Amino acid sequence: MTKDWNTRTKLVHSGTRRSQYGEVSEAIFLTQGFVYDSAEQAEQRFLKSGEDEFIYARYGNPTVRMFEERIAALEGAEDAFATASGMAAVSGALTAMLKAGDHVVSSRALFGSCLYILEDVLARFGVEITLVDGTDLDAWRAAVRPDTRAVFLESISNPTLEVIDLEEVAKIAHGVGATVVVDNVFATPIWSRALELGADVVVYSTTKHIDGQGRCLGGVILGTREFIRKTVEPYVKHTGGAMSPFNAWVMLKGMETLDLRVRAMTDGATKIAAALDGHGKLARVIFPHLPDHPQHDVALRMMEKGGTVLSIDIAGGQAAAFRFLNALKIMTISNNLGDAKSIVTHPATTTHQRLSEEQRATLGITPGLVRLSVGIEDADDLLADILGALDAV
Ligand SMILES: *Cc1c(COP(=O)(O)O)cnc(C)c1O
Repeated sequence: MTKDWNTRTKLVHSGTRRSQYGEVSEAIFLTQGFVYDSAEQAEQRFLKSGEDEFIYARYGNPTVRMFEERIAALEGAEDAFATASGMAAVSGALTAMLKAGDHVVSSRALFGSCLYILEDVLARFGVEITLVDGTDLDAWRAAVRPDTRAVFLESISNPTLEVIDLEEVAKIAHGVGATVVVDNVFATPIWSRALELGADVVVYSTTKHIDGQGRCLGGVILGTREFIRKTVEPYVKHTGGAMSPFNAWVMLKGMETLDLRVRAMTDGATKIAAALDGHGKLARVIFPHLPDHPQHDVALRMMEKGGTVLSIDIAGGQAAAFRFLNALKIMTISNNLGDAKSIVTHPATTTHQRLSEEQRATLGITPGLVRLSVGIEDADDLLADILGALDAV
């Protein structure tokens, strides 16, 4: 039944489990454990838990299960496992499936913590990592090998918003039998059909658009039932990366309005990007659906709309960028994204501070680059705020 529902109906109703009280709003089962009627039942439950049978919240919990089923329905995935954070999802998905001697190819424009998992953690345990320019299909072709076990990428990179041709990369990866793992945060589950485009496993930091109101950390791994239950679940449940029931409840409530919020934010970002394009104080405006975006054609194929984030490169470098940030009155300086509140970030001195100047230059993270995560405020108010702050530069 839920398979035939459209997105907004799924976001409100999929996965709902009502207790004997018939509550309207999803219940928070804030319990780590579950009681058994008898010793025999406990024995049976540990042997094999059924649909609505739980043992311990690190393994599963009714509120968390509701969230997992709702997001799996949205994504069109067979199953999902919720995690304590986006990074628990990325590290869980990769570590669960890899072993010493395996080869991984990944795009190099990665969130810093994702890079740490690949280069510091997995490499330490004998996994060989090759990093490529994700927008260069020949580089992917040259990097994959018969022993390539996984291909990892952020479908849209942070903060330079490079768009990777997931469809083509998936074909290259599948040609050598590799599993395609996609961190899909920037594309959002509303605009991206990553599984249809060829991803095998999709990962989200639910901290971003899915909570969308700056409250909780969370993450989720989506894939086939076989992958989630046989590969991911044993690893995550035994290593302790499970999502808390309270956070799952916040995510469930966030999902009810996800489509509405992402559409409003995207409309705002699209309008602001178009208005700023060609502004005299900007060296670049980066937004996937602007015609001058380097992977514009790919972006049109990968996503129905351009997303909720744009980046601008302020002529005059760091000093000019700081003046811009400090002059904003509505947009707040922080480092989250996908929030109802518009957030502005200076990547070179915050999220990407630890990279060397050379690494930042390779990734296009210039001193004047500013990332704008557009919230649900009135787009004209935001545009006036941005134009006013640019005047102050
Ligand atoms: C935020 C983010 C993460 C990490 O998520 P947390 O919830 O902060 O652990 C991973 N990948 C991308 C692309 C992100 O934006």
